[in-house]
Amino acid sequence: MPCPYCGALQSLVFSQLKWDEGRPETARYICAHCGAAVEERHKIEMFERGVWMPSVPERSNDEVIGFHLNSLYSPYGWHSWAEIASEFLKAKNDTSKLKVFVNTTLGEAWAERGEAPPYKNLYNRRESYRLNELQNDVCFITVGVDVQRDRLELEVVGWCADKRSYSIDYRVLEGDTASGGGWDKLAAVVGERWLRSDGMELPVKIMAIDTGYNTTHVYDFCRRFDALRVIPVKGMDSLGMAVSPPKTVDVTKAGKKVGKLRLWSVGVSFLKGELYSALRLEKDDKGVPPPNYCHFPEYDEHFFRGLTAEEQVKKIVRGYPRYMWVKKYERNEPLDCRIYARTAAAIVGLDRLKPEKLAALGGLSQSTRSRDNSTPSAPRGERKRRRGGFWDS
Ligand SMILES: [Zn+2]
Repeated sequence: MPCPYCGALQSLVFSQLKWDEGRPETARYICAHCGAAVEERHKIEMFERGVWMPSVPERSNDEVIGFHLNSLYSPYGWHSWAEIASEFLKAKNDTSKLKVFVNTTLGEAWAERGEAPPYKNLYNRRESYRLNELQNDVCFITVGVDVQRDRLELEVVGWCADKRSYSIDYRVLEGDTASGGGWDKLAAVVGERWLRSDGMELPVKIMAIDTGYNTTHVYDFCRRFDALRVIPVKGMDSLGMAVSPPKTVDVTKAGKKVGKLRLWSVGVSFLKGELYSALRLEKDDKGVPPPNYCHFPEYDEHFFRGLTAEEQVKKIVRGYPRYMWVKKYERNEPLDCRIYARTAAAIVGLDRLKPEKLAALGGLSQSTRSRDNSTPSAPRGERKRRRGGFWDS
């Protein structure tokens, strides 16, 4: 659009929209070149002289061209700058409203700030609880497994009713994952139970295993267990939620169909953003952790480097901004394991169930969850394998 005062062509951006404090009706557009205050009515003239210009200078002929306009370009008399300013003021202190504003009014992709805190910060705030011993407020346990050529890596995570999490253990099970190695050790983890300080024992609620590598062996392993106890998962960058409903996949052996499995898609990008937001949370002055806070025991530095191994960068793809995760530290398995454990927690209902329901999963009631005198009975053995249900293979 040309500035009606100096004529300089510019794309209209929200940051140039200004108004008197608390008075969105005074909204005007400040020319980025001459600083003149452009009024809404000038749009008529600006539209007549506006031109389309490529945002990426060099593009090959076979590329698909996309067009992008935000609401600042609404024709005169339609959605006004004053309305946009007013919408922003209503949304700015509420992350979910702001997200809607960015997506719909500005027409831009909302991205959680994809930056982990420095690993040293997390390392320095480690807590002295013992590995494999549960705190009183843990409601259920999930395990996330990353598959490598010569080993399996896994994190055991305990989840609380307010979505705080405790890392309970991080293990590396060595063995060639293409020839059975490591898998029997992993089967032992599925059967393990962890003792909570009130005497309750908790099993693995769901174990989620990445299928990106040695897929056949992962499928074989999952098929040894209840269909909703040990699940295969597949990362999907574009998925804007934790997990999407499972798809049925055929399991084949030597070209022959031997069965079916439910494969779950994981919104890895989405969950990494969420995790990195959670890792930046701090305890308050009295040492009370907020919801979503992540507790860690005294792991070594490699764990924390791995957990914070990636960062989100903005790249322009075909004229559009895209946010992509790139590794800045090679060994990112702790990050992947945490994402899969979080996926499993989403399937259990971490995001869906009310706090009292989550507490009840671990035999806790909200009022007694921090007291030691409640003595819930230990869970009865393993659930029977269900047949014919929605979740079954
Ligand atoms: Zn100007």
